[in-house]
Amino acid sequence: MGDSDRDTGREPASAEDAFSLLADETRLAILRELYALDDPLTFSELRERVGMRDSGQFNYHLGKLKGQFVEQTEEGYELTTSGFRVLGAVFAGTYEERTIDPVPIDDPCPLCGGRLTAVYDRDHFEIVCEDCETHVIAYPAPPGILRGRDREELPAVFSRYARHVLGQITDGFCPFCLGPTEVELDIPEVEGIGANHQCQHCGLEMTMSTGISLLQVPEVVAFAREHGLDVQETPLWAQDPIFGGDERLVDDESDPAALEFVITIDDESLTIRLDDRLRAIETTRS
Ligand SMILES: [Zn+2]
Ligand SMILES: [Zn+2]
Repeated sequence: MGDSDRDTGREPASAEDAFSLLADETRLAILRELYALDDPLTFSELRERVGMRDSGQFNYHLGKLKGQFVEQTEEGYELTTSGFRVLGAVFAGTYEERTIDPVPIDDPCPLCGGRLTAVYDRDHFEIVCEDCETHVIAYPAPPGILRGRDREELPAVFSRYARHVLGQITDGFCPFCLGPTEVELDIPEVEGIGANHQCQHCGLEMTMSTGISLLQVPEVVAFAREHGLDVQETPLWAQDPIFGGDERLVDDESDPAALEFVITIDDESLTIRLDDRLRAIETTRS
């Protein structure tokens, strides 16, 4: 394999091209073999592991993956980041369990004090109130999220995953394609002041309350911790001091803030002002 075989200038493929590239068992086997390795493999090492005798055929399939999913370096072949991600998505989606029996949660519903339950069904998890029927959290997640986890810990796992993804979205990344997002504030579908985050690349829309952005503000995390609330350990539905505070839209063109929140714990208050991208521009204690 000479340098002339290196494929460095390939145009980014469309999603359709990428899927048709991967619709082949040999190519998936190549990605699988490279996925688990720390060091690159040479052409013949890789061919042996995949178990294909015909070197010409093997070279043809490997060539199809080169550039987008597999990279050839001086040490050999390795996965690109896209190769890792596409195979990671395959692993996350191929777990035999696809539903769980509802798991009861000890904490009360933040809206009505009723009974909360964690549910996973067909690629979605939900934290739902049996009494007021509110979906406190509802988010898509492939069944890999159930893998290696006890039933009892699933509510906490769902909360951590939701916090992780909501943080990504608040920071302006589409959680699916990593494209940039645009924010639309004050949408009617959400209790309180809601936001719609739309991916400018894949078009995906994600709806959530704006209060979730507060978890990305270091002053909020520190304020909560000083008052005995650890926002990393506490499930999202039990963080009422943060999400249950006062919130208002700032309706003043000359003011750089679009939203203002006031969190009060133990007679101390923290005021947080966010811009229209939901980024904190000012915090004040009182
Ligand atoms: Zn409820
Ligand atoms: Zn996207």
